[in-house]
Amino acid sequence: MVQQPLADVTLQEGTLRFLEDSPKRLLIGGEWVDAADGSTFDTVNPANGQVLAQVAAAGEADVNRAVAAARRAFDTGAWPKMSGSERGNLLWKIADLIEKYTTELAELETLDNGKPLRVSSKVDVPQAIRHFRYYAGWASKIEGSTIPVSFPNQLVYTVREPVGVVGLIIPWNFPLLMSAWKLAPALACGNTCILKPAEQTPLTALRLGEILIEAGVPAGVVNIVTGYGIPTGAAITSHPGVDKVAFTGSTEVGRKIMQAAASSNLKRVSLELGGKSPNVIFADADVPRAIKGATWAVFSNTGQECTAGSRLFVERSVYDQVVEGLAAEAQKIRVGPGFGSAHLGPLVSQEQLDRVTGYIASGRSGGAQIVTGGERLGGDLADGYFLPPTVFTHENDQLQLVQEEIFGPVVAVAAFDDWDELMARANSTRYGLSAGVWTRDVGRAHRFAQGVKAGTVWINEYGLIDAAAPFGGYKESGFGREMGKDALELYTQVKTVWVNLG
Ligand code: NAP
Ligand code: MG
Repeated sequence: MVQQPLADVTLQEGTLRFLEDSPKRLLIGGEWVDAADGSTFDTVNPANGQVLAQVAAAGEADVNRAVAAARRAFDTGAWPKMSGSERGNLLWKIADLIEKYTTELAELETLDNGKPLRVSSKVDVPQAIRHFRYYAGWASKIEGSTIPVSFPNQLVYTVREPVGVVGLIIPWNFPLLMSAWKLAPALACGNTCILKPAEQTPLTALRLGEILIEAGVPAGVVNIVTGYGIPTGAAITSHPGVDKVAFTGSTEVGRKIMQAAASSNLKRVSLELGGKSPNVIFADADVPRAIKGATWAVFSNTGQECTAGSRLFVERSVYDQVVEGLAAEAQKIRVGPGFGSAHLGPLVSQEQLDRVTGYIASGRSGGAQIVTGGERLGGDLADGYFLPPTVFTHENDQLQLVQEEIFGPVVAVAAFDDWDELMARANSTRYGLSAGVWTRDVGRAHRFAQGVKAGTVWINEYGLIDAAAPFGGYKESGFGREMGKDALELYTQVKTVWVNLG
């Protein structure tokens, strides 16, 4: 693994303007406002530990203001009068503006999250654009149905109506994309929103707030409250004026959100939570291709992906070849600051670095073998939160390393001998978000897809997502499907109307 020196960075004027205008404020009712008690927090560049900007830390009073603004916007004003096609036009305009500001948004994402600029500009921002364009199309196609019933002289039809005020709570691994992932369908369906970005990465959500205003989104339709999980996130989830919460993040916080929803107003909840996804290489696969695929399945985004293929099972006859190949691929990966030529950036925060190194230590002490990686990078990279791609081999599926979501560049590789054993082991975690399989046997590939308990399965590839393809978890990876047509169900409710024709 080659270390990149910190590169000299020339930023867009728009990026500098945005960063200089600090502290960043909350977007409530169409206005940029300070937190009621004036508190702020720092957001940090994970490549060097330096503060990028101060950001308003919303408290309960601010969340109350945001909910009041969202409720007003839902009930009165321009928003409820807009037709689906008008909302579609607005979403398309938002997409055009995101496209116009691609470089700025990508720079902010790279500064705040650490990911390489070529990833933020070629993946995160374009995917955000696609989500707005995809749901722009749906906004005018949200239909009910007519239902034949057993009584005479009755017309029964359904309409799909927005849920109301929706709280959108998102993590730090794809900050702009997750904002789009939730805002686009919520707005297409006619809801009003309160978006809470992760405290580690608030900047692109706030820049998106400026874009929403520029696009002409009416005041109060999208409110953005930055701050910590507690109190900001918790104030949203326990607020009786919030009708639904859509959450992406850890299973642990997902559980708290359900509890808060249950003990406030039974708000609707959809959860996209963690994963510990099995990725399987059979001996009949195109093994070199499978090795490359398995490498990026887990190390992409520095392993900070809910779908990371972090448990790799390899058929015993090709096990040594795969372990050796995986280690060689891992060592070729350049880790460094996002503005250089790195393939992978740092972990998002000191806390995340500590969490991941804790799992590495537990793997070692539990008897797993490190093949490559495992030590924090020093030298020029010592101020950032850099860890190299790390490959463990093991023979014990019960290790913490193998059972728990690490959310870092760490893969646990094990050999398997037969089908029944493989399927039992593949399914033996509390998670069920995704899975991958590499084989040339088409029947076996589909048998695996049928047998594995996961919301998404990739065959001879890994990690692709698209605005049109539903995505979500089995088991403790959550419930509800985001993306695709399915997401419309998350953000609408069905009303049945009976008409007596007699
Ligand atoms: P997290 O705590 O689940 O954070 C996700 C979001 O929830 C953030 O906006 C967070 O706010 C907010 N939040 C935290 N506590 C809350 C509460 N009680 N009520 C309402 N909202 C709350 O995730 P994390 O601590 O950043 O990461 C921990 C682990 O979660 C990772 O190591 C990884 O295993 C997993 N994770 C999974 C995903 C995924 O995509 N499935 C994404 C991120 C993390 P703050 O950020 O301000 O605290
Ligand atoms: Mg940051």
